[in-house]
Amino acid sequence: MAAATVTINWSEIDTLLLDMDGTVLDLAFDNYFWLELVPQRFAHARGMAYEAALEEFRAHNERALGTLNWYCIDHWSDQLGLDIATIKHDVRHRIAYLPGALPFLRAARDFGLRLIVVTNAHRRTLAIKMRQTHLERHVDAVYSSHDFGHPKESAQFWRRFESSAGLRRERCVLIDDSRPVIAAGRAHGLGGTVTITQPDSSRPRRTVDDGPAVAGLADLAEVLGARRLSCLSREVSGAAGAVCRPRTRTRS
Ligand SMILES: [Mg+2]
Repeated sequence: MAAATVTINWSEIDTLLLDMDGTVLDLAFDNYFWLELVPQRFAHARGMAYEAALEEFRAHNERALGTLNWYCIDHWSDQLGLDIATIKHDVRHRIAYLPGALPFLRAARDFGLRLIVVTNAHRRTLAIKMRQTHLERHVDAVYSSHDFGHPKESAQFWRRFESSAGLRRERCVLIDDSRPVIAAGRAHGLGGTVTITQPDSSRPRRTVDDGPAVAGLADLAEVLGARRLSCLSREVSGAAGAVCRPRTRTRS
């Protein structure tokens, strides 16, 4: 879907809630890790054929789906008998930004938007990814749903997170590649949601037809550019400019 079809009242938005994996960082890493490497290591550790190991691994997956355990590397280390954090650390060189993500973050911050990463990633996974990408330097805050006891798919998470982060939900746009998470954010009453349709740069775009969607953050940069022009013209005419005038930042 083209960026031009995104219909959010951007002039009322001051905060972007950014998912990490599949939105800012390339899901190609996670797909490789969980769909190839971990089943291989699991098969090797159990002395099993790869296909049999994959079947057992999928059964574990189904039991954890929709819960925080799905994202918890301690859970997977226990279930699979593998040191997930160490394996992840060993292949950390594969962790990368999605194309266009970093320029988007810079543009959004320069425009004065508050950028908050909100992820279901476990804190130990988060630490590995931050060390590799320094993502924390490009945003204002980073939150893990593990600190709130509920995944982003749940209403409880959004109530606790909004209170803790001091948000005004109507001024926030959630950008995420997970449709259940987008649905939860929408149900919470966020000012807008945008679904990422190509979270893995090595795979084709998905079709999303239930709300604003873009292939990636690079496409959304066009929307922010249009918003800026709109704001500038309103400032020139003297109407409501303060609502969307870029803030002066003092960060280094
Ligand atoms: Mg994601």
